[in-house]
Amino acid sequence: MLEVRGLGKTFGETEVLKAIDLNVSEGELVFIIGPSGSGKSTMLRCCNRLEEPTSGAILIDNARITDIPRRDLDRMRLNVGMVFQGFHLYPHMSVIKNVILAQIKALKRPADEARQRGMELLDQVGLGHKADAMPSELSGGQQQRVAIARALALDPKVMLFDEPTSALDPELVGSVLKVMKDLRDKGMTMLVVSHEMAFAREAADRVVFMDGGYVVEAGTPDEIFGNPKSDRLKSFLSRVS
Ligand code: ATP
Ligand code: MG
Repeated sequence: MLEVRGLGKTFGETEVLKAIDLNVSEGELVFIIGPSGSGKSTMLRCCNRLEEPTSGAILIDNARITDIPRRDLDRMRLNVGMVFQGFHLYPHMSVIKNVILAQIKALKRPADEARQRGMELLDQVGLGHKADAMPSELSGGQQQRVAIARALALDPKVMLFDEPTSALDPELVGSVLKVMKDLRDKGMTMLVVSHEMAFAREAADRVVFMDGGYVVEAGTPDEIFGNPKSDRLKSFLSRVS
């Protein structure tokens, strides 16, 4: 579904990604861990060309998105839902409008269909009753769940999450992780950068450890957390857990 082949990214003189290889199969949840500055966000951002790769290729459903001309990027990006640490909802629009807008603008969905799909998704993230609220009236966890519903409304083939719970108070983290777990159980293909190791153990099919712009180790949660091989991973795990 999502294939990263020999991905390299350089900012000026700094080589931030060095030949990253990574596959996410259909319906798989792949979890990325690694120290700050290891290139996790840059890798994720390359997957929808928010960042331009310096070398290598990225394929979604066997189509090389790295070959798409810039003018056609918007259409490609519809396939890739992205959720960030900050929720970036439109503050002056109600929750349901936030979820409807891109469906109408980008997918040209009729308004009533967009609203119906939007309500379905708000129900799915447990926020049907907040459809007419403004984002400022919601908790951070609720806002993040709206952001997830908004991304899902475009029917993406894959969802990318970059530290979706890092900005949340601890008591709000669980509600967002639950929505992500439900999504996984429904068969969504997901690539998740997060420090929630307990969630990785519970929900990830595979865990990838990045350090210094490389994939240092990858495996099942049991392998990565229970039997880390490299010294770098061992030392990372001893610092975070
Ligand atoms: P964190 O866990 O702190 O979010 P990360 O693994 O997501 O870290 P990245 O944000 O991908 O790391 O950054 C990797 C490296 O690339 C860092 O050294 C960072 O300073 C550098 N970097 C990222 N974006 C840019 C940019 N636009 N220009 C120059 N350097 C950048
Ligand atoms: Mg990051």
